[in-house]
Amino acid sequence: MKQATGQEKSMVIPKICPNIIEGKEYNSGEKIPVIDPANEELISEIIQADAQTVDLAVEAARRVFEGGVWSGASVEERQATLYKIADLLEQNAEELAWLESRNIGIPISQSRTRHVPRAVYNFRFFAEYISQSGNDSYSQLSDYLTIITREPVGVAALIGPWNAPIALTTMKIAAAIAFGNSCVVKPSEVSPLTALRVTELLHDAGLPDGVVNLINGRGAVTGAALAAHPDIDVLSFTGGTATGRAIMSAAGANLTPVTLELGGKSANIIFDDADFDPALDGALLSIFSNNGQQCLAGSRILLQKNIAERFLSAFVERAKNLRIGEPMDERTEIGPLATKEHFERVMNFADIAVREGCKMLCGGGAVKGFDKGYYFHPTAVLAPDNKSRICQEEIFGPFAAFQIFDTVEDAWQIANETRFGLFNYVWTENLQTAMTAHKRLKSGTVCVNTPIVRELRAPFGGFKESGVGREGGQSCENFYTEEKVTIIPTVKTKLHRMGCGTEDQ
Ligand code: NAD
Repeated sequence: MKQATGQEKSMVIPKICPNIIEGKEYNSGEKIPVIDPANEELISEIIQADAQTVDLAVEAARRVFEGGVWSGASVEERQATLYKIADLLEQNAEELAWLESRNIGIPISQSRTRHVPRAVYNFRFFAEYISQSGNDSYSQLSDYLTIITREPVGVAALIGPWNAPIALTTMKIAAAIAFGNSCVVKPSEVSPLTALRVTELLHDAGLPDGVVNLINGRGAVTGAALAAHPDIDVLSFTGGTATGRAIMSAAGANLTPVTLELGGKSANIIFDDADFDPALDGALLSIFSNNGQQCLAGSRILLQKNIAERFLSAFVERAKNLRIGEPMDERTEIGPLATKEHFERVMNFADIAVREGCKMLCGGGAVKGFDKGYYFHPTAVLAPDNKSRICQEEIFGPFAAFQIFDTVEDAWQIANETRFGLFNYVWTENLQTAMTAHKRLKSGTVCVNTPIVRELRAPFGGFKESGVGREGGQSCENFYTEEKVTIIPTVKTKLHRMGCGTEDQ
């Protein structure tokens, strides 16, 4: 692999995103275009890894794992490398933020302040975690000590989405390698740029080649070959629910354990007694950050009837005032959606909303004044009820669906009437309502009086069709390690002597 030169490396988008297997570039295969969503220009091409290339990547990961150069390294060695990786990501933060925003159109201010710092923290967090976690032992059984130890599980397949590539993919990489595994990483075909640069930086930080292998390509080709590969030990996936089903059945055929972080349709419940301004700020952040392309977006905003009118009018005023623009402009709050297909899909939901009798409060179409790029107006609609498609399907764009409710009981019922269960948000000054929310809402996380706060020590994941398994400190340790039990007598044991022809015990 070529040596990157850290900060001196100029900010260029590579013309080709190769596959990188055991440190070597693999450049042959079908080329798939990578498009800048702000201007629809071709900015790069990925080389699609076919099934044979996927085999090579898995074989390399296995070979390196069995060789022990990383899997057998001490915790101190792994920790030092993880810290080095974090430092290098930090030193190259501006370039990484730039690549991310050019690739998927999220405002540069958000790449800088949220996505790249999260990537850095992922490595620091797991560096610290591995130095602190311990093993259980049991001594209750008379004269025996039972020790539980953990070993890296082996080869991890890591498949990521396009909506927050660097933050989500580095979470998987950091967790997998912290515990000594090797891995094969497949970023979304839409968003390969930061994964490639991160792979170079892993190498520069001294991570042995082949511990992290990068393969690019479409889900149906590269992703499917990886998910069905018989020689992967675990598979961690973040993406859509339909893809999650396909992946789980492919992996299931090999009894490969999976974690699936899938879609969401989170309720953001504003009670009459909510502190108005933070609730409004939180609602806007929750649906419009990341151009609305967030699994945990508060996309169904439920308003209690006495606060509804005031809240709706304040929300719409602020939504109309959002600065829509070029992602590289520091003032931009809403950039383009990530792809043409996705833009058309989100546009289609505006038509569905009208057909379903929703009241269009703002937005609902392409932004005027942009000749090129996938700019969709921040949208708010008032839905007639929770059954409408805009309240049940994940739109994954800057598209807020409001509903008005009467009683606290109604709020729980509407919030839970969904096939998803990733997040819910509640805004109330009433402690009992907050504590009831914690009990009644069926989701992996309930945020009270705050938009998302990601605590990496805590398990992150979804109920129902929002996922299987969890990511986070302890959850990742459980997933990326095998537990082993060793039993040792603490005194000299006297065993029953079979075959001695005696009744002696
Ligand atoms: P997607 O499911 O289309 O693709 C995700 C990844 O899976 C990509 O790398 C893709 O190439 C690959 N893939 C597609 N088909 C595959 C197959 N048959 N076998 C193996 N791999 C395959 O999702 P997306 O459009 O990239 O991302 C958006 C979705 O991700 C949304 O539904 C969003 O809610 C979800 N998401 C969830 C979380 C979470 O933590 N729960 C976080 C971010 C995004």
